[in-house]
Amino acid sequence: MSLTAPALSATVKSPLDLIGKTPMVEVTKIDTGKCRLLLKLESQNPGGSIKDRIAVEMLDAAEREGWLKKGGTIVEATAGNTGLALTLVGRARGYKVLLVIPDKMSKEKIQHLRAMGADVRLTRSDVPHGHPDYYTDMAERLAQAIPGAYYVNQFANQSNAEAHVKTTGPEIWEQTGGDIDAFVAGIGSGGTITGVARYLKSVGSKAQIILADPVGSTLAGIVNDGVPGPDGSYTVEGIGQNFVPDTADMSLIDKAYSIPDAEAIATARELLLKEGILAGSSSGTLIATALRWCREQTEPKTCVTFVCDTGAKYLSKVYNDAWLADQGLGERELHGDLSDLIN
Ligand code: PMP
Repeated sequence: MSLTAPALSATVKSPLDLIGKTPMVEVTKIDTGKCRLLLKLESQNPGGSIKDRIAVEMLDAAEREGWLKKGGTIVEATAGNTGLALTLVGRARGYKVLLVIPDKMSKEKIQHLRAMGADVRLTRSDVPHGHPDYYTDMAERLAQAIPGAYYVNQFANQSNAEAHVKTTGPEIWEQTGGDIDAFVAGIGSGGTITGVARYLKSVGSKAQIILADPVGSTLAGIVNDGVPGPDGSYTVEGIGQNFVPDTADMSLIDKAYSIPDAEAIATARELLLKEGILAGSSSGTLIATALRWCREQTEPKTCVTFVCDTGAKYLSKVYNDAWLADQGLGERELHGDLSDLIN
């Protein structure tokens, strides 16, 4: 391509007006078999992730229903991105924001949140749903104890999936001209996969709905075998659960793939190296799943998935060779062999 001036939209008064309408780009340098693999760049949202969409919809509903009043406190359990989106939208509307985040999440996300004015409380990453220190249990307890607090609860909030029925689904349909054979997403809350699948089915799309799940999440087992798979820990952030969130309609999902951390991270790194796209860790799981599905196809197909968030949120992890080596996910290279530089 050569550099040309693109058609620009009019100026806006707030970054919130830039949420959604994200671009889609085709993967052309990685082997996708017979598939056209399209990535919707949710990393281009002002908060850097797909979660900006749901923050607007969930806060609109809370204000409309009177659950959130002037000067109130927004409380949420989050892997970081929903918190960031709620802070972006909530602070602009004059609310305080209190977030409970599992301590495995990247320091970039935590620092970003604190700098945006959120009150961030870290909790344990190694306890299951139902434990008092689990992030959702803790957020719910805090919201009950704080006057004027509203627990957003993306895991059961119907406005979460609704945001994707209203925006993400229609955008995908329009950008592909309805030519879509498979749609791949993960489940954190399940809002994305449920909302997009609902929309696609409502317009008569025959696209297969594919779940991308980290090894260690129990959800792929539910889709493929009808019983939860083995529970374990994993590095990828934002997707995978050891329970089915109320927001997730598992009946919409046709097939699931379990992706090990090493494959997710290698895929994210390959995407940056070959395509120049800086994606986060959950995007690595999604794109690894999409590539597995694509390479199984014997006819030309179109597959759509996301770059859920920017890899800038994970430079200290996914793109940090020393950290990956510490996790057993990569080779440690100190200075390498210098013979190509010095004889
Ligand atoms: N990717 C990232 C980086 C996330 O933070 C999340 C949500 N926590 C997801 C994907 C999953 O999206 P959803 O909650 O809609 O299932």
